[in-house]
Amino acid sequence: MTAVDAPALDFGPATHLTCRACGEQYPLGAAYACIECFGPLEVGYQLATPTREQIAAGPPSIWRYASLLPVPADIAELPGLHPGYTKLVRADNLARALGMRRLWVKDDTGNPTHSFKDRVVAVALSAARQLGLRTLSCASTGNLANAVAAAAARAGMDHVVVIPADLESGKVITTAVYGGSLVAVQGTYDDVNRLCSELIGDPLTSSWGFVNVNLRPYYAEGSKSLGYEVAEQLGWRLPQQVVIPVASGSLLTKVDKAFRELGTLGLVEATPYRVFGAQATGCSPVAQAFRAGIDVVRPVKPQTIAKSLAIGNPADGPYALDVARRTGGAIADVSDEEVVAGIRLLAETEGIFAETAGGVTVATLQHLLATGQLDPGAETVVYNTGDGLKTLDAVASQVGPTATIAPSLEEFRAALGG
Ligand SMILES: *Cc1c(COP(=O)(O)O)cnc(C)c1O
Ligand SMILES: [Zn+2]
Repeated sequence: MTAVDAPALDFGPATHLTCRACGEQYPLGAAYACIECFGPLEVGYQLATPTREQIAAGPPSIWRYASLLPVPADIAELPGLHPGYTKLVRADNLARALGMRRLWVKDDTGNPTHSFKDRVVAVALSAARQLGLRTLSCASTGNLANAVAAAAARAGMDHVVVIPADLESGKVITTAVYGGSLVAVQGTYDDVNRLCSELIGDPLTSSWGFVNVNLRPYYAEGSKSLGYEVAEQLGWRLPQQVVIPVASGSLLTKVDKAFRELGTLGLVEATPYRVFGAQATGCSPVAQAFRAGIDVVRPVKPQTIAKSLAIGNPADGPYALDVARRTGGAIADVSDEEVVAGIRLLAETEGIFAETAGGVTVATLQHLLATGQLDPGAETVVYNTGDGLKTLDAVASQVGPTATIAPSLEEFRAALGG
């Protein structure tokens, strides 16, 4: 791999890329796979420890953790929509309904395009700038499409988003509105992802940054902010259990990475925690491997309403398995009916309307409790990663007016009176 010779590349504390499979090191650049073994590359750092006070004095966005991310130190120069620092909601009603002691919802619907993908895109966009890439692109299951289009628009970059043609209309419209190019591919997300991998190296796309392909090492680091924030919002300590939705498995592995870093840096006490992953049964290759007790994640053809999680061949699946096993967690899956029930339960107990991925996570929490895998007495954080307004179809057939009446007192009484 040739070193990138552009002057003054600024990736803050990041010093190199390293192969997660064999440990081979590479210079920072638009590389994502190891030349020796084709393993995935990850950002390596020389981290100087910020103090809690320095972090707290930062902006209310992921950039308060800039000193722990592969971005320049000058926050004022950082691009995009300044996502992050979303609410950590104490979920006492849901806890009561589930027989749990202390439960929190990390609610990432509060991001600029209403999903956690704004975090990863912000870091990838900074990398694209450093590397002189002028077009921002991605293969998306929906939320990433929104986040790439919006952040690129704001940064004044061209954008080309590639999606499976059967995506929810709520995610197509909320991408197309930002202008740029939107290409709908007749195939699954895995087909879209393969196409984008083939495009890398094509002359047409030589100055493009595909946030989750050739910029994937940087993109993935953005998810660490979901670990940092929870620890900071709990008063600088780690929760005992977390439940995280799994598509490629990147988010789950990076929350674990963030918790470990905070412990190593002495920003929190390195108390034990268990990481649980959540999938929909119709696309549950990682949960199946977990149950079978094997390390190999066998690709599946997705068939589920949880389209944001419908990655049949998850790049970080084996690493997500490792994290769940190492921490004493699990990866489990729930049916589409349970997903809808999970969406409704969270809405009815906490006033939070989650997309299908949030339904997967809440339903998996229930499943893990029912099967005795998760401790109801231990402090638990569930990650709600996306907004229900983008996946209305999931609940549309189940909810609606309690009664439809003429505008008269009698009819109202007849409809609602005891
Ligand atoms: C992309 C996505 C995830 C999971 O992402 P991975 O890092 O690929 O596992 C979870 N929830 C929502 C809503 C998403 O859009
Ligand atoms: Zn390697």
